Amino acid sequence: MSDSIFLYLKMKKRNLELYLHIPFCVRKCNYCDFFSASGTPKEQADYVSAMIQEIQSYQELSGEYEVQTIFLGGGTPSLLTPEQIEKIFTTIYHIFSVNENAEITMEMNPGTVDIEKLRAMKAAGVNRLSIGLQSAQNEELKMLGRIHTYEEFLETWKLTEQAGFKNRNIDLMSALPGQTIESYEDTLSKVLALEPEHISAYSLILEEGTVFYDWYEKGKLDRGAWKLPSEEEEYAMGELTIQRLAEAGMHRYEISNYAKPGKECRHNLGYWDRVEYLGIGAGSSSLIKGGTV
Ligand code: SF4
Repeated sequence: MSDSIFLYLKMKKRNLELYLHIPFCVRKCNYCDFFSASGTPKEQADYVSAMIQEIQSYQELSGEYEVQTIFLGGGTPSLLTPEQIEKIFTTIYHIFSVNENAEITMEMNPGTVDIEKLRAMKAAGVNRLSIGLQSAQNEELKMLGRIHTYEEFLETWKLTEQAGFKNRNIDLMSALPGQTIESYEDTLSKVLALEPEHISAYSLILEEGTVFYDWYEKGKLDRGAWKLPSEEEEYAMGELTIQRLAEAGMHRYEISNYAKPGKECRHNLGYWDRVEYLGIGAGSSSLIKGGTV
């Protein structure tokens, strides 16, 4: 190997994805087993300070890498204040070399942002939003323990448009207690009419330790208004998702993820391609090849 090639390889930075976990939520949803909880403004501020220190602690490691994607997940990252968002991103840009075309995603829930916060997110470099809707039926949203109605989601959707976001994911859920094929199809129709670039469509899994699991054990999901759909109905909902989204020009590129061409989530794909990633915050993990974090 010539000296110049050796030098080039030595200087070439490796690709890195950053994941930042913000564990705060307004309240816990009935199906959720993620690491998330409600927190006071002081706890949130202390957490952000600790997160900034953690980012700074990677000063030495960061030199080897160029960041290709950043994902703020949760929890509900959109509960951060505009100032906290700005502080986190300023620290990231100070410590890491971030590619100018990096995909930068922030998860959010309807009703937790106003136009000022969305503009702060955009100014900080966020260019992709992932919005937790789950269902367009208000009675299903209530049963899930969500903090918003469908109408509140629509207001938030309009605000994201106003703020200039052009790459947005909507999260949906099927096989919910009380959900029918008709109500799910209505949700799909309403959401597709908004022409999102990406949809994540998950089938409910009953996780131990959740309110739903407790209801299930008590037999509340076997009968009445919150009866779980049968296996056949669950399968039909899955097939309906594939069919309706394909008709809308969204292809299935991952188990639960559908996108318009070119709008696949690069951060998600990186996990499948074993791109190195660095997790920051509680409840995150890292894959750094040949090293420890
Ligand atoms: S908003 Fe998301 S993370 Fe928070 S409790 Fe609900 S499902 Fe869990």
